[in-house]
Amino acid sequence: MRRAREVIPGGVNSPVRAFGSVGGTARFIKSATGARIRDVDDNRYLDYVASWGAVLVGHAHPRVVDAVRSAAARGTSFGAPTEAEVLLAERVIEFVPSVEMIRFVNSGTEAVMSAVRLARGATGRDKIIKFEGCYHGHGDSLLAAAGSGVATLGIPGTRGVPEAAVRDTIVVPYNDLDAVENAFLQHSDGIAAVIVEPIAANMGMVSPRPGFLEGLRSLCDTYDAVLIFDEVITGFRVARGGAQGRLGVVPDLSTFGKVIGGGLPVGAYGGRRDLMRHIAPEGEVFQAGTLSGNPLATAAGLAVLELLDEDGVYDALEQRSRRISEGLQSQADAAGVPMTIDSAGGVFGFFFHPGPVRNYEDVQKADGKRYETFFHGMLDQGVYFAPSAFEVAFVTTVHSLADEDETLEAARRVFRKGL
Ligand SMILES: *Cc1c(COP(=O)(O)O)cnc(C)c1O
Repeated sequence: MRRAREVIPGGVNSPVRAFGSVGGTARFIKSATGARIRDVDDNRYLDYVASWGAVLVGHAHPRVVDAVRSAAARGTSFGAPTEAEVLLAERVIEFVPSVEMIRFVNSGTEAVMSAVRLARGATGRDKIIKFEGCYHGHGDSLLAAAGSGVATLGIPGTRGVPEAAVRDTIVVPYNDLDAVENAFLQHSDGIAAVIVEPIAANMGMVSPRPGFLEGLRSLCDTYDAVLIFDEVITGFRVARGGAQGRLGVVPDLSTFGKVIGGGLPVGAYGGRRDLMRHIAPEGEVFQAGTLSGNPLATAAGLAVLELLDEDGVYDALEQRSRRISEGLQSQADAAGVPMTIDSAGGVFGFFFHPGPVRNYEDVQKADGKRYETFFHGMLDQGVYFAPSAFEVAFVTTVHSLADEDETLEAARRVFRKGL
């Protein structure tokens, strides 16, 4: 880590990896198979980070490794169309019926930036509504923090983002339909899109209240705005058809990443054909990428979606997450530690807070110190949770019942020692 810090800011290529919010030193990982990762000191950990959700079928799955290996042998990138891209596009469309056309890019960030540009280009409007606590990658216009009061225009969420870049970003609380409606009333003909994580998973896990997504759908219909579901985490993870399949609300555009690349750099955005036709070269909204749809990532994506197409995959994921969640909740209850836990498909999240947790303001009240103790207690026993209280836990299709028992046994010892 000392050497890394000399040559890479904070020693890491993405901030949360640095253990900044939990203390201690990040583990440098040298290899991984299945549900386990191994660090450079040869410690093994049961992994609930799973590359922040990108790995859904387990690390180094033989089918994925084979697919990538044989694609690499045929050449890593051509900058020309390939058949595999069409196969992957068709496959995604099969999984997610609201997607009629799709464009592949190289990261979730790029997918979201492109979808927002498309919504603006197609509607001829500039403003977008986003929700406090939802993360949509690090594109300038989406790195907005909430201003004071509800439905105010955003302020830059980080240094380096000019005010002009977020001037057209309106930030409102998650699960607050009234705030969204007010924003539409204030800017009735100026709103291009509403972008939302249909199940929020970047402020811990916060599920939409009944009627919230349906309300967004109908407001977007009323005002002719584009509804974008950012399914970069939830896509292919919370259900076969993502959050939209699970919850039955149909967006106009969706963004994907993480799972769809099977651990290689991929993102994608897609949706209604009439909207997607605005993308160059069919339409006039420019978006391009030298390595977009590259053969390695595409091969990995295809292999993963094939594995996810097998019977019972999502039922098993659902049961795994639920069993751990229920186990942790009952341990917390028995220990008298306030905890709220939620799960969907292959993801679960918990707050050291009595709940309910409905939005970012509630999330802020969770006990970060307790999470820190929990995190290190688990890590010491070889169970690797996210090094931040505001991230979720990811289950893969290869986490076994025995892995779960091991996790719950480790948690029992942590609770017994005192949180
Ligand atoms: C991770 C994430 C992104 C950004 O994806 P990157 O591949 O990290 O650029 C965007 N939206 C959501 C919901 C995410 O979880």
